[in-house]
Amino acid sequence: MEPIIAGNWKMNKEPGESRALVQKLMELTGDVKDRIMILIPPFTSLASVGELVRNSRFKLGAQNMHWERSGAYTGEISGLFLKAVGCDYVVIGHSERRHVMGETDEMINKKLKTALEIGLIPILCAGEKEEEREAGKTEAVIERQIKEALKDIENEAHKIIFAYEPVWAIGTGKTATSQQAVEVHKFIRGMLKKPSTILYGGSVKPENVDTLMKEEEIQGALVGGASLKPESFARIIKFTKDS
Ligand code: PEP
Repeated sequence: MEPIIAGNWKMNKEPGESRALVQKLMELTGDVKDRIMILIPPFTSLASVGELVRNSRFKLGAQNMHWERSGAYTGEISGLFLKAVGCDYVVIGHSERRHVMGETDEMINKKLKTALEIGLIPILCAGEKEEEREAGKTEAVIERQIKEALKDIENEAHKIIFAYEPVWAIGTGKTATSQQAVEVHKFIRGMLKKPSTILYGGSVKPENVDTLMKEEEIQGALVGGASLKPESFARIIKFTKDS
């Protein structure tokens, strides 16, 4: 399978800035062939970015969705609306949603079920906090997050893209070593019945992407901060295993 490079813009880039970023990225990646490139802008930029990337090699994803399809959920967004503006992917259970916005494993499970039902490809994030790693609880945390997320949908796990994102590496500049990432990827893979795609996320940058992507276990990257600058994201997309 082609490696996946996904850029999570978080709460950055209003619609004008989003368009400018996409236009520049398209210029810089015109020659890229064997990569799946996913742009994950904020909700307010989805429609305009969706227009720009239609019929291009870029795919569109959203950062979150609600588990209901419609109704009295002020401030929430339905997965059906995401599909209507061209999304194929949706991030579910990002650590900032879990730890800053208080999202629970149960909510994440409900979101995953709905995403699969309506035909969005979920990118499910899981990762341990620094104190959990230091206490030797990494595998226990990942196991709980994945098990709870997949409750009643274990047989559909192969339709989900997993992202191992150690919380201590997100937005901190600290990257997991290849060995740390590979260990957890193998652990996640061991929990799944069928082969699945597993991405690494956590301070992926032009300087470390080649080393990480050399590992067969790492099938792509979920990139935050470094996806906001067209030059750095383009360099990440163009990672090489030969250096
Ligand atoms: C992310 O937002 O998923 C992420 C990995 O962020 P960063 O690359 O900035 O650490």
